[in-house]
Amino acid sequence: VVKNFVGIDIGGTNIKIAVVDEKGKIVKKSSIKTLSTREYAHVIADIVSEITKITNGIEYEAIGIGCPGAVDSKNGVIEYSPNLYWKNVPLAKLIAAKVKKTVKVANDASVAALGETKFGAGKNFTDTALITLGTGIGGGFVVGGQLFEGFKSMGAEIGHTVIREGGIKCTCGRKGCFETCASATALIRKTLRAMQIDKNSLMWEYCGHDLNKVDGRTSFECAKKGDATAREVVEEYMQSLADGILNVVNIFRSQAVILGGGICAQGGYLTAPIQNMVDEHRYGGKDSLRTIILTAQLGNDAGVIGAASLVM
Ligand SMILES: [Zn+2]
Repeated sequence: VVKNFVGIDIGGTNIKIAVVDEKGKIVKKSSIKTLSTREYAHVIADIVSEITKITNGIEYEAIGIGCPGAVDSKNGVIEYSPNLYWKNVPLAKLIAAKVKKTVKVANDASVAALGETKFGAGKNFTDTALITLGTGIGGGFVVGGQLFEGFKSMGAEIGHTVIREGGIKCTCGRKGCFETCASATALIRKTLRAMQIDKNSLMWEYCGHDLNKVDGRTSFECAKKGDATAREVVEEYMQSLADGILNVVNIFRSQAVILGGGICAQGGYLTAPIQNMVDEHRYGGKDSLRTIILTAQLGNDAGVIGAASLVM
């Protein structure tokens, strides 16, 4: 008999809930609105009722939850989550009291890294880093098959390591952080800047002369079509991304770095040059253990699958 687990991915807008079997396959899933401005007790009541609904007629072992913010995973307490407006919420205890199952909670970025490592791109490895390129840059790390959570499970803020001294000011107050250079937001900013300088770039035609339509694809797609300005944007972006990844690789000595986020749809066009730069510049050079650069495989399901794998 294959055992089932419940995985819950709490976000600021939606809460995804899934029944996941021990092989990482989603048996059933659903999604509810977070409506995060409510009292947390109402949000938790909705989660409990959705758990009851989705597990109706299904035997399951335990519940794992991924939540944004500072999560004390040992005690199952959400210490602080700006996205949810939560402070010191004993989430695991409150849910366990209702459903009478073991409940574990961890930071959402860490949980996604665990999911990708156990069941996604990293399943052949024990030491991996998941770097998610979105509005900012988030990271989760698996070391020796275990989730690396750090003191009080604060995780590692890889997005806020400086890669360009004296660079652009970051939301954290420092200058030149990895996420100011290599997030999707940074790529769009670089694209817009290059378009202002080169009014003849193909990127103008590509976005229909509407700057609001510029996104993470604009520079990549136009570079593929041979636009020199677009290629410069992509090259500068990839150099920043490689520098940030090299910092991760030199600290964690990861066997694989898994890239997540929309930009990963670029596949080998993104990973091949990054792989070359990492091979060339990681400490120890070409003769040391190679770190493989991959793209995430679980997509939007990484959160629920990772959450369920917390309790497997
Ligand atoms: Zn920063």
